Amino acid sequence: MSNAAPVEPHVMNTYGRLPIALSHGRGCRVWDVNGKEYLDALGGIAVNTLGHAHPKLVPALQEQIGQLIHTSNYYYTPNAEKLAALLCERSGLDKVFFCSSGLEANEAALKLARKFGHDKGIDKPEIVVYEKAFHGRSIATLSATGNPKVQAGFGPLVEGFIRVPLNDVAAIRQATAGNPNVVAVFFEAIQGEGGVNPVDADYMREVRALCDANDWLLMIDEVQCGMGRTGKWFAHQWAGIQPDVMPLAKGLGSGVPIGAVVAGPKAASIFQPGNHGTTFGGNPLAVRAGVETIRIMEEEGLLENAAQVGQHLQTALLTQLMGVAGVKQVRGKGLMIGIELDRPCGVLVNRCAEAGLLLSVTADSVVRMVPPLILSVAEADEIVAKLVPLIKAFLAEQA
Ligand SMILES: *Cc1c(COP(=O)(O)O)cnc(C)c1O
Repeated sequence: MSNAAPVEPHVMNTYGRLPIALSHGRGCRVWDVNGKEYLDALGGIAVNTLGHAHPKLVPALQEQIGQLIHTSNYYYTPNAEKLAALLCERSGLDKVFFCSSGLEANEAALKLARKFGHDKGIDKPEIVVYEKAFHGRSIATLSATGNPKVQAGFGPLVEGFIRVPLNDVAAIRQATAGNPNVVAVFFEAIQGEGGVNPVDADYMREVRALCDANDWLLMIDEVQCGMGRTGKWFAHQWAGIQPDVMPLAKGLGSGVPIGAVVAGPKAASIFQPGNHGTTFGGNPLAVRAGVETIRIMEEEGLLENAAQVGQHLQTALLTQLMGVAGVKQVRGKGLMIGIELDRPCGVLVNRCAEAGLLLSVTADSVVRMVPPLILSVAEADEIVAKLVPLIKAFLAEQA
């Protein structure tokens, strides 16, 4: 499979693509151009919240396309305010900036943190970031990312970051002690690309207190783990805390490109006209997709579904993989699940696809599933039935 001839001579070779061209989908299933069916446990990497061709989303987007796709930010877009209000109600935060992707949301967060510092006289603001973090691939967000592979070849990196290990209160205290330039702490509530690594609830609460005590912004990247994936709107809500700044993207538009930064009182008024902007941000099609995604999620009880089916899937995987030599851990929350093996296992992506199951491997050795939030128990069982034998066979042949 990996020797398939390139079929995109005019597209830059930035992705290690599988030799599969998908043609259409329905629910949690997609079909390729040869008619082969796949169960989609990747969901466009945590993007297709409502699955494919959702019968309520499709007509709403069709209607929107027939009305307005884009107008520019010279004019108000009614659904932008509507979506912003929906996000504020669900997060308890105050104001939203719209953009079109995760890295843009994070870039805006980093700019907010720096201006927060400058506004109080800190000329060289510094932001605490984490080992194994992933925040995007722009120059600033790859600098914040804690993965040398993402950074290699793109130096000099943006300065002003202090890197610490996850879930280690002593380490962040030590790294920031007596430093008057710190302005913010920035982490993913559950690291996605870094291998599905949850931040402990206790750690989040400690860092929240540290930020309050020092007047730092707590910025939580919910680009992958947010929008209902873990069974709450935002993954940090399991710890009972609120961030000051929360970047969103991926699942927010169910596949239509949209990003957002949601800000609480400490950060909601930092940007003034002229400080930040983007042409596509808050575009009528994108914000309509966001409004409809939230509406349909609530109509169909998808937070509860993500929690319940996610629990079922994780328990089934645990039961069948526990004690299997080479399986280190099954972890995650709701429909964000990682299975860490004791060795690189990228080859499983191809083998699963051959068996009709789409998923990914992240951090070299973690099988990751971030399926649509409409996943049923029967579909979860089907994932387990396809995946477990492939993992066992892979581990056995390399033992
Ligand atoms: C995917 C991701 C990003 C980057 O989003 P893009 O839309 O690809 O720019 C940032 N942060 C996290 C946590 C992500 O998972």
